[in-house]
Amino acid sequence: MSQPSATALTNSTPDVLRSPIRLLVDGQWVEGTGESIDFFDPSEGTVLGTFAGASEADVDRAARAARAALDGPWSRVTPAQRATLLWRLADALEERIEEFSLLETLNTGKPLSLTRQFELPQAVAILRYNAGWATKLNGETRDVSLPGEWHTFTMRRPVGVAGLIVPWNNPIVMAAAKLGPALAAGCTTVLKPAELTPVTAARLGELICGLGFPDGVVNIVPGLGHVAGEAIATHPLVDKISFTGSTAIGQHLQRTTAATMKRLSLELGGKSPVLIFADADLDRAIEAAAMSIYANSGQVCAAGSRLYVDARVADRVISGIAERAAALRVGGGLEEGVTTGPLISARQRDRVLGYIEQGREAGAGVAVGGSAPDRPGFFVQPTVLTDTHADMSVVREEIFGPVLVTQTFDDPDDLDAILGRANASEYGLSSYIWTRDLSRAHRVARRLQAGNVRVNTYSGMDPNMPFGGFKASGYGKENGREGVEAYTELTSVAIRLD
Ligand code: NAD
Repeated sequence: MSQPSATALTNSTPDVLRSPIRLLVDGQWVEGTGESIDFFDPSEGTVLGTFAGASEADVDRAARAARAALDGPWSRVTPAQRATLLWRLADALEERIEEFSLLETLNTGKPLSLTRQFELPQAVAILRYNAGWATKLNGETRDVSLPGEWHTFTMRRPVGVAGLIVPWNNPIVMAAAKLGPALAAGCTTVLKPAELTPVTAARLGELICGLGFPDGVVNIVPGLGHVAGEAIATHPLVDKISFTGSTAIGQHLQRTTAATMKRLSLELGGKSPVLIFADADLDRAIEAAAMSIYANSGQVCAAGSRLYVDARVADRVISGIAERAAALRVGGGLEEGVTTGPLISARQRDRVLGYIEQGREAGAGVAVGGSAPDRPGFFVQPTVLTDTHADMSVVREEIFGPVLVTQTFDDPDDLDAILGRANASEYGLSSYIWTRDLSRAHRVARRLQAGNVRVNTYSGMDPNMPFGGFKASGYGKENGREGVEAYTELTSVAIRLD
């Protein structure tokens, strides 16, 4: 099928935004009763629409509906039927990739090529992958050494009602990454998209309504974090929170969920190191290092945001990345040929520009970028900062924008020194190694304090690869068997036979 051009899609924009943002509660499509929230077109910096957010009372109804579905109809749905429903959801989303890509692009400013070719297909793949797990979650028999005769085994059961709270940087992918495993495991759900990006999650709710899920299994409550998010996190009928977002809110959730002992998975921020050794395929390393920080305008938790490069090749690598940064086509998500979109909001743009200024004041050089282009929208030019050091805020803190900080190392064999610097971060999400030396790759990989290590690539994200961080990047894994099991409780059963 040939794909419509960006212009054709632009002409159809009013149509695709026609249906209002509502809440999906107990199978009904309802108006929120909370305060009115604006969402934006970051490419233009204009208001795209307004919706009534979920109030505490709306979340209460959603949580009660989820509990009733869990104890009622959903408990009688077999694993194979859950798999079929998830597969059906994947099919329905795939059929509407064009519409969802456009909506995601309008609401986030991401290039249409990114949403259409990567993010929507990724969301579909995640749902299909998790559909497969619904029929494969088993306990196991165990041999014990107790006196007498025993039959002992473990059982996996759904953890219960899962509260799913997601950020704005990958709205549809995150929604799929949480709904997929939660539903596969047999949980019922209350999903809260970020207030800035309610559009694709709401449209997903419309899709779900017609697919055969019992009412109350999926509830979607777009709204403010401190209202709707807080109401989910404190609700007594919610058994687990799976949260992706900032470390500060993750820590807040640790405190608020303590009272009810809710299960908690936290996918938080990062400040991931990229280590480039002189023996690496430098052309590929340069290209990948640029992609790693500039894809999605740096609004990626796993972005390679701290570069450590062998001093002997540093000029070539840093100038190579700077050249690629300068060559990126920055523009609105629907503009033809655009590679790099805006940031999500004026606040985020100003925050990123503020960090660049702090870096300058602390003595960093600006090899490329460093400011906002002169146009409407929430843009920041792809930026490389040089001469940075460990105690600068731009090196320590997550910027969540298109800003790479660079440093060099002199002795490639002094792994203690290199790893000491790479690991000197409160975060521990991802890390990237570039070398042709197999032994060095392994030695560095096993000592990096990061949940995800990539060697000679910046990607490696797959629904079957567990993803999650160490330290202030959170705990618990998404994807893979671990990602589904995070929505289960394990019971051990011991039966005395003699
Ligand atoms: P955020 O923490 O402000 O918001 C994330 C979500 O939490 C939103 O839906 C928000 O409404 C909600 N929220 C806010 N306050 C809340 C509260 N008191 N109780 C419950 N929910 C609340 O984060 P953000 O600024 O939207 O997203 C950017 C952050 O997300 C970055 O730090 C980034 O690194 C992180 N992130 C992590 C991953 C990962 O997998 N590790 C992936 C993407 C983004």
